[in-house]
Amino acid sequence: MRTKVIAGNWKMNKDLNESVTLVSEIKNGLTKLNSSSEIIICPPYTSLETVNSLIKDTAINLGAQNMHFEDSGAFTGEISADMLKSVGCNYVILGHSERRKIFLETNEVINKKVKKALDKNLKVIFCIGETLSERESNVTFKVLEEQIVNGLSNIDNDKVQNLTVAYEPVWAIGTGKTASPEQAQEVHEFIRKLIAQLYSDNLAQDMKILYGGSVKPNNAASLLSKPDIDGALIGGACLKPDLFLEVIKIAG
Ligand code: PEP
Repeated sequence: MRTKVIAGNWKMNKDLNESVTLVSEIKNGLTKLNSSSEIIICPPYTSLETVNSLIKDTAINLGAQNMHFEDSGAFTGEISADMLKSVGCNYVILGHSERRKIFLETNEVINKKVKKALDKNLKVIFCIGETLSERESNVTFKVLEEQIVNGLSNIDNDKVQNLTVAYEPVWAIGTGKTASPEQAQEVHEFIRKLIAQLYSDNLAQDMKILYGGSVKPNNAASLLSKPDIDGALIGGACLKPDLFLEVIKIAG
């Protein structure tokens, strides 16, 4: 049995004071839920240290939304894996579709980041997903396979165990459109089979594959009931503590 994972990607939202309010509300709400799920929150860089100090006595995990693949040096504006660890992160989201689209991150760049993060013992939420035009041209599985094969190139079995995949169809992110539970399950099953081919059956069975794309309390139950959907990566709804907590409650 894989434990369910509920992760919140705050994106470029919440200044320091707002972050304190949001994390306090999540923390208080969680004490009443007795959830068995793994909870991860990914605030902006500027709030990581403070949020970390507020969740120290809880089971909430702290993640960043991105990092650079180099250790240090002349990379103005970038943040390294060690820097993330020094403020309490144990997770990092890599390959988010907004990074791929707006910041032109290629599978090769994402591969370098994934490798570095895993080498530094950060757990990775590795995002993949097809655009609407790719889905309409029937190349969804081809695109996902390329993202996985290239994104995980030269990453060994022992490292990849610390990686969680997040399938996020780009057309469902922030749009209010969700993949149907059947559409999502079909893709998750495909991803698990591909991981089994690239690594092993056992590793694929243990790997958590999250769904992301307009997850809210009204669609969470049907998505999370599918056998290969192990949790959710949530954008918009994670900024509203009542919605985020409700999804956690649904996940059980
Ligand atoms: C995301 O950006 O990872 C995401 C899933 O966003 P939303 O829930 O808003 O669609």
